[in-house]
Amino acid sequence: MDGCIFCKIGKREIESMVVYEDKDVIVFRDINPQAPVHILVIPKKHVAGLNDITADDQMLAGKLILVAQKVARQEKISESGYRLVINSGEDAGQAVQHLHVHLLGGRRMKWPPG
Ligand code: 5GP
Ligand code: ZN
Repeated sequence: MDGCIFCKIGKREIESMVVYEDKDVIVFRDINPQAPVHILVIPKKHVAGLNDITADDQMLAGKLILVAQKVARQEKISESGYRLVINSGEDAGQAVQHLHVHLLGGRRMKWPPG
């Protein structure tokens, strides 16, 4: 989608620290990390957010979690623990309107989240 910053990252039009990529997804380090490991897993296809996932996206949505699992192992936080977060809408603080899964780890997390 025109003007979408994460679509541009997916097409490598904007630079990012990519840690994994395949035909469906791209995974890169968050520019403003909130934990020692803070990585974003996104579909290359533009999906605006959780509310916009359709039945056609079922495989893709599942793949985001499997890729996050793989990258967590790659980052050596599988055993110590990690958290996946998808913010949806204003109350959750979604700032970028392109679906993304935050992979956070490398420190002890608090619950409930702020
Ligand atoms: P949200 O608040 O929408 O769930 O998360 C958006 C995330 O994207 C934030 O953690 C923010 O730091 C990150 N982000 C925004 N713009 C860029 C960018 O241009 N490059 C990278 N690597 N991360 C970005
Ligand atoms: Zn997009």
